[in-house]
Amino acid sequence: MVDRYCVIGNPISHTKSPRIHMAFAAQTGWRIQYDAIEAPLGEFFATAETFRASGGLGMNITAPFKLDAYAYATELLPRAKLAGAVNAIKFENGQILADNFDGIGLLNDIQNNLRCRFCGLRVLLLGAGGAARGAIVPFLEAHPAELVILNRTAAKASALAAEFSAHGPVIAANDAGFSPQSTAAFDVVINATCASLRGELPPLPPGVLGTHTLAYELLYGKGLTPFLAAAKQAGVRQLADGAGMLVEQAAEAFLWWQGVRPETRPVIADLTVPIV
Ligand code: NDP
Repeated sequence: MVDRYCVIGNPISHTKSPRIHMAFAAQTGWRIQYDAIEAPLGEFFATAETFRASGGLGMNITAPFKLDAYAYATELLPRAKLAGAVNAIKFENGQILADNFDGIGLLNDIQNNLRCRFCGLRVLLLGAGGAARGAIVPFLEAHPAELVILNRTAAKASALAAEFSAHGPVIAANDAGFSPQSTAAFDVVINATCASLRGELPPLPPGVLGTHTLAYELLYGKGLTPFLAAAKQAGVRQLADGAGMLVEQAAEAFLWWQGVRPETRPVIADLTVPIV
């Protein structure tokens, strides 16, 4: 008997999750089957239930089903509640336990792999969608000097900053007090928008990127995206993409399911595409 897990999304052919989890399983000697399942749009519940009924023990959830997974859960763990979305599920004692490891995966990649500790740093988060939302509380728990959210639709950034202001120093770029032109460049600038998927550059005020900045693109495997190209042009020396985030969130799910933390570095090295 092998333990059965899967990732559900639409489309799903691009997913690296089976490769990552099989690499983790090989490290730990865990006998696992991990499939990629494409659920038809509007049929997440039926697809998940079919997998559960066939003996599945847990699953990852990717776009566009993270909100459906939130509604499907019978018990939401704190990170999933705060993120308002679910990217990992465990079936246990008849319950559907749900968590979200995207934010902690991103933070772990930046702090542990890229060796950029947030404590005391100025961080600019571009975007106010699901990935940005899930990162805010983990980021604030790492005690940055400030976290500024900048989004194409400014009202969404303001709403997020207001919602999470009790957790730490978070403001929206369009709210009073933020002027990138008159402040020093940020220590970390993270592109959590979908702009690069369309080959576009998200709104990026002059002055936010400096040579010391870490420029991090959540999209992975696409080389020099417009955001990373703009950072390179501005003289930024440290560029990164979301391959490390993907592997780190998978490691958190693996730990949750199996009780063992896998080694992420060789798996990240295997997935990383040079940023040129
Ligand atoms: P959402 O659809 O939830 O959010 C999209 C965000 O991007 C919104 O803030 C939206 O702004 C903004 N946006 C979209 N198009 C543009 C554009 N042309 N210019 C400027 N802003 C734009 O997406 P997610 O949060 O789920 O995903 C964001 C990115 O993160 C994607 O590239 C995704 O691939 C990546 N990702 C990577 C992961 C990893 O493990 N590496 C995990 C999860 C996501 P507005 O509010 O104005 O519409």
